[in-house]
Amino acid sequence: MYDALIIGGGPAGLYAAYCLAKAGRRVAVFEEHPEIGTPVHCTGLVATECFTRFELPTQANQAMLRRARFHAPGGHVLAVASDQDETVVLDRAAFDRALAEQAQAAGAELFAGHRVEALRRLRKRLVARTVTGTGIERLVSGHLGILATGASYGLHRGLGLQVPTRFVYGAQVEVVFEATAEVEVCFGNEVAPGSFAWVVPFTRHGVTMAKIGVLASREAPQYLARFLESPLVASRVRPGWMGPYQRRPIPVWPLAETVGDRLLVIGDAAGLAKPTTGGGVYYSLLSAELAADTACRALAAGDGSAKALRRYQTDWRAALGSEIRAGALFRTVASHLSDAQIDEAFQLITGEPMAGLIRDHASFNWHKELILALWRSAAMRGFLWRALMRRGGRMIGALRPSMNGYPGVKLPDERAATD
Ligand SMILES: Cc1cc2nc3c(=O)[nH]c(=O)nc-3n(C[C@H](O)[C@H](O)[C@H](O)COP(=O)(O)OP(=O)(O)OC[C@H]3O[C@@H](n4cnc5c(N)ncnc54)[C@H](O)[C@@H]3O)c2cc1C
Repeated sequence: MYDALIIGGGPAGLYAAYCLAKAGRRVAVFEEHPEIGTPVHCTGLVATECFTRFELPTQANQAMLRRARFHAPGGHVLAVASDQDETVVLDRAAFDRALAEQAQAAGAELFAGHRVEALRRLRKRLVARTVTGTGIERLVSGHLGILATGASYGLHRGLGLQVPTRFVYGAQVEVVFEATAEVEVCFGNEVAPGSFAWVVPFTRHGVTMAKIGVLASREAPQYLARFLESPLVASRVRPGWMGPYQRRPIPVWPLAETVGDRLLVIGDAAGLAKPTTGGGVYYSLLSAELAADTACRALAAGDGSAKALRRYQTDWRAALGSEIRAGALFRTVASHLSDAQIDEAFQLITGEPMAGLIRDHASFNWHKELILALWRSAAMRGFLWRALMRRGGRMIGALRPSMNGYPGVKLPDERAATD
């Protein structure tokens, strides 16, 4: 019998497997696709902080980026440059494969091409029914299970778990592109309603390419097709190979319960992604590490009850809870702005004192401090008040869940994200 069965071979599942195997635990990872890392549905933009905070392989890093241009719907462009390498573009397929190798080297067993069809609690065990692409079925037992299925929620209900209810939708394609070192981020309701579109350059086998993507509150592939035809993109795409459209929902609000008897839920499966940008790799790795730590303690104590595993939920809420709430609040407000209001916000943030606030508080992974700093500034509060007056009713209704926090959790119980 395994100590832990991990369902899902993405960053969350593979990093949890690595942490548990490194601690001497017997772990099995089940990934439904025959090859780890494919199909890819991620741009792979992460902060360099990932590599200092976690034990990660570096061979999948495709590019380091220091410059970005933010485009307002009315044409205003805000150029931002950093004198440090803060952002890495990962080859997500290679990154996942390298994570798998790292977990296997630590002792984890990996079963690619094995889909977990059902997961049941049976007395003091958890039993998974797996099936291969050729239809071979197998029953596997473990003391604990870690659900790391990404934005696939087919197993949740059978285990008495809820599924996330708030999503944004991502679509992306890789193209051959002119040589550039700049990320482009475009806003506007005609470009990416409720979110943004992007161009992220990278190089593969000496060929300059870009990941062109859209995050939107609806119909992301349609908006991506339009973005590809926009002058900013179309004139710079080079003839040659174009990858398939990759599309996926991203949860932007976590599950109220991320533990159950013998069960921990991590990464996108737990609804853990940044509500502001939809970036989920950092939260996946962090939740994996915290879940593995709790799992090790529970296994040592021989207690896999939900009560014993609740420590994981307390830990991720302490680390991310207030970040997620601030981010969700920001997303709700930003996604209700008209194009004219986005233009007005751009004007505001390019002038002082707002530009200074952004310089002082902007961080790739941690957004709460900047959101709070903006909120405290009189100019931004005036802007928001005017926006609320114009689009008030819908915005206030949508704000309610982010302001209330998670069911049963009060704000003062949570430490700041950076504690
Ligand atoms: C277009 C797009 C761009 C993105 N760009 C970024 C970015 O630049 N930076 C960033 O940080 N985040 C980004 N994200 C989000 C990021 O991809 C996810 O947050 C991250 O992949 C979550 O990791 P995970 O391990 O939880 O889930 P996943 O990476 O989705 O892995 C889950 C795995 O579980 C497997 N699985 C599911 N069900 C079963 C089952 N029943 N049995 C066996 N295996 C199963 C799946 O096949 C999958 O391999 C992007 C998302 C999209 C859609």
